[in-house]
Amino acid sequence: MIKGTFPIDKFKGLKTPFYYYNIELLRETLETVNSLISKYGYHQHYAIKANANPYILRIIAESGFGADCVSGGEVQAALDAGFPVGRIVFAGVGKADWEINLGLDNDIACFNVESLAELRVINELAADKGKTATIALRVNPNVDAHTHAKITTGLQENKFGINIGMLPGVFEELPKLKNVCFTGIHFHIGSQITDMSAFRDLCIRFNELQDNLEASGITLENANFGGGLGIDYYHPNHIPMPDFENYFASFHKLIKQRPGQQIHFELGRSIVAQCGSLISKVLYVKEGEVKKFAILDAGFTELIRPAMYDAYHHMENITNDGTIEIYDVVGPICESSDVFGKDVKLNEVRRNDLIAFRSAGAYGEVMASQYNCRSLPKAWFSDQL
Ligand SMILES: *Cc1c(COP(=O)(O)O)cnc(C)c1O
Repeated sequence: MIKGTFPIDKFKGLKTPFYYYNIELLRETLETVNSLISKYGYHQHYAIKANANPYILRIIAESGFGADCVSGGEVQAALDAGFPVGRIVFAGVGKADWEINLGLDNDIACFNVESLAELRVINELAADKGKTATIALRVNPNVDAHTHAKITTGLQENKFGINIGMLPGVFEELPKLKNVCFTGIHFHIGSQITDMSAFRDLCIRFNELQDNLEASGITLENANFGGGLGIDYYHPNHIPMPDFENYFASFHKLIKQRPGQQIHFELGRSIVAQCGSLISKVLYVKEGEVKKFAILDAGFTELIRPAMYDAYHHMENITNDGTIEIYDVVGPICESSDVFGKDVKLNEVRRNDLIAFRSAGAYGEVMASQYNCRSLPKAWFSDQL
């Protein structure tokens, strides 16, 4: 079995479970994206929610990314990590007043507004401060992302964004809202998208919308296509990076970019997923009547994706090279959904072996919880061990 490279000796004595980040891979991924971004003259943001570890955030900020936030806490995390305030954008269907005020006080680049009700509140709060808020409208393009139902966001029945049919009403009211300044359109159609036709559909929808808006005298200074690019959870060793080249080239080919118009992207998972692994220790090997269970010290409290999204994570026994056997891999949490995988092939598992969950850098550590009074996992970094 081909396995990832881990500094096993340095793992000795570290309290499990913990997250381990390959910082070299993170930097390589950032460089790849940055070179394509500058080739096309686009603007890149990192979606903080994928992984908000302060050290990871600092590295991404230093590499030249802006930040995409979906809460006031994330706006604060972006500021603390050194993302330039002029490149922080703020989306989310339920922005509380304090969160909007935090954005206004810091003069963030853009509020991506998800309803007319929110637009009115931002206008009011900006007026109270004698400010003008820069806004874009998050549009729901009714595009099927062909991904898991729990991470699809761009269909008409989703809570996100403003449906295209309701835009005329918003544009009618906009001129009356004196403390907001409209600059463009924002989309985000879902996550872990591997079918590029979803992005093609998005580009087509954008071009139509742009033509229609221009016909009524509305021009778009900014167009933001969100994130969603998927990664290969099955082959983390062979495909450590998604095909960024093809991704940006497809947009470049399809979108009708107007002169001077800024094109933005907000990548989350595709930046951080492959550089992170959850490292867990085997507590027991339990022989059932028909199955063998590998019982780990990590559960859905450390990595919730399998329980929440039926997600697959490649697992490796990084301690032992013995014969391949079949296990149900489970955690210690008192919930029957605390199962990482059924009939998983692993090199023979013994008590105290370390099991690595690959591709866990996105929506892993950041979604950890303290359920069952557990403590949050610690993170270690390849350049600091
Ligand atoms: C989550 C999110 C992203 C990033 O999505 P990924 O699938 O992780 O790339 C980008 N934009 C917005 C508004 C989001 O909510």
